[in-house]
Amino acid sequence: MKRIIIHWTGGIWKPNEHERECYHYLIDATGKKHEGIFKPEDNENCYDGKYAQHIGGGNTGSIGVALCGMFRYNNRFDIGIYPLTKIQCEAAFKLISELCKKYDIKITPETVLTHYEFGKSHPKTSSYGKPDITFLPPYSYLEADEIGNFIRNKVKWYLNN
Ligand SMILES: [Zn+2]
Repeated sequence: MKRIIIHWTGGIWKPNEHERECYHYLIDATGKKHEGIFKPEDNENCYDGKYAQHIGGGNTGSIGVALCGMFRYNNRFDIGIYPLTKIQCEAAFKLISELCKKYDIKITPETVLTHYEFGKSHPKTSSYGKPDITFLPPYSYLEADEIGNFIRNKVKWYLNN
C-alpha cells in the first residue's frame, strides 16, 4: 500500500452498507472503528472491480479512512447536523498512525493526505473539488489548506507516543 487517503462520508454519524463498500475503515462519532467490506489489499489491483472505490483517479494502492458525518455540509458557516466530533477525529488520527506503521507508509503530503488535497494535486480526476476534508468542526480555527498538515502532525504525534 502506498498511501492513506482521509475522507468524511458526507453521511450521518455511523456507517451504512454503501459507505462500508467505499472505505476500508470508518470511524463513527463515538470514535469506534468499523471495518469496510474490502481490505486495504483489495486496492492493490483495481482491475477486478473488487476494491473500495473511495478516490477517483487514485484508488490503486490507496487505503481509505473515513470519518462518519458531515451530511449536508455546505461550507464552514453551514456545516449540517452531523459535525465530526473531537473523539472521532482523534480516533481516526490514531488509526492512521497504526496503518502507517503496519504498511510502512511515511507521513508526507504525498502519502498521508485528504481527498481534498489529492483533488488539488490531480485536477483532471473526479477527486477535484471534493470538500473532504476542508473543515474540522473540533478545530474550526483551521483554514482548508492547513488541515492536511494538521492531520499529519497529529498522526506523527500518535506514532511517537
Ligand atoms: Zn472523499
